[in-house]
Amino acid sequence: MSSHKRYNTFSDELKRHFGCKVQRISVDAGLTCPNRDGTLDTEGCIFCGGHGSGSFGIRRGLSVAGQLEDGKEVMRRKYRAAKFIAYFQAYSNTYASVDQIRKLFSEAQAVSDVVGVIIATRPDCLPDDVLEYLQELSRETYLWLELGIQSIYDRSLLFINRRHDYAASVDAVRRAKSRGLRVCAHVILGLPGETSAEVLAMAEELNRLGIDGVKLHLLHVMKGTRLAEMHGRGEVELLDRDGYAGLVCDFLECLEPHILIHRLTGDGGHDNLIAPLWSLKKFEVLNLIDAELERRNTWQGIRLSRQQSIPEI
Ligand code: SF4
Repeated sequence: MSSHKRYNTFSDELKRHFGCKVQRISVDAGLTCPNRDGTLDTEGCIFCGGHGSGSFGIRRGLSVAGQLEDGKEVMRRKYRAAKFIAYFQAYSNTYASVDQIRKLFSEAQAVSDVVGVIIATRPDCLPDDVLEYLQELSRETYLWLELGIQSIYDRSLLFINRRHDYAASVDAVRRAKSRGLRVCAHVILGLPGETSAEVLAMAEELNRLGIDGVKLHLLHVMKGTRLAEMHGRGEVELLDRDGYAGLVCDFLECLEPHILIHRLTGDGGHDNLIAPLWSLKKFEVLNLIDAELERRNTWQGIRLSRQQSIPEI
């Protein structure tokens, strides 16, 4: 485990793996999503503002390589980063033919100092030919597949209009893992109607699935979304800051210590966020999580291992 955190951070893993400061650069591949283009639905998930998430470089007329060159300059100045990972974040980045995908990721790979790719997608957008190509790519570069699992409960997936069930996530993780890919699961903590016990059962289920990383989200209410309408009508209860931090600590305590924590909170973006506004102060939320683990004298995986000290990873 990291020297300064009570959980296993992805940033420390990058330092261990590459021996230098590595930063992710969000890249927009210009793809879309079956939950938006009419294949499954046109409205998307209730929290989706219609832009997926991440940067919108292609829509600003920049190529993949152009976005990475721009991002490298910013990351060098801001974080003194030496190497970079192309983070295909917006929409569903495997929702295209293998040839299209190959072209996009090869373009990223060819940019100097880009040492890896992270590909975010939906679990139902992973046909075998795409996985076969990702397996091939993973032999050439440091690759992570990020899967939007969001919840293990079908009633929650129905509530957020995800348009796939949990069985689709299990199938995607199993097929990706059987090809040796690193898998990071995105999950939302505190979806309305999920009890604390159910959230903790989700950590245990992720342990069983054998994922390698996790990215935790809270439910953000963004302007122009169906969730905003529901929130406006008083139909959605959101967690407060202390409640979220406590739930994150409980979740971490139930998670296998080797699972890398890619993210514990997000801010949803200043311009369009309606609630919860406390999430804008991301560092305060992270500090609160650190302080709570310290106060409890607990760490990632303690409830599984019953270890008496923080494990070395
Ligand atoms: S899967 Fe992603 S891009 Fe598609 S509707 Fe849901 S949040 Fe939006």
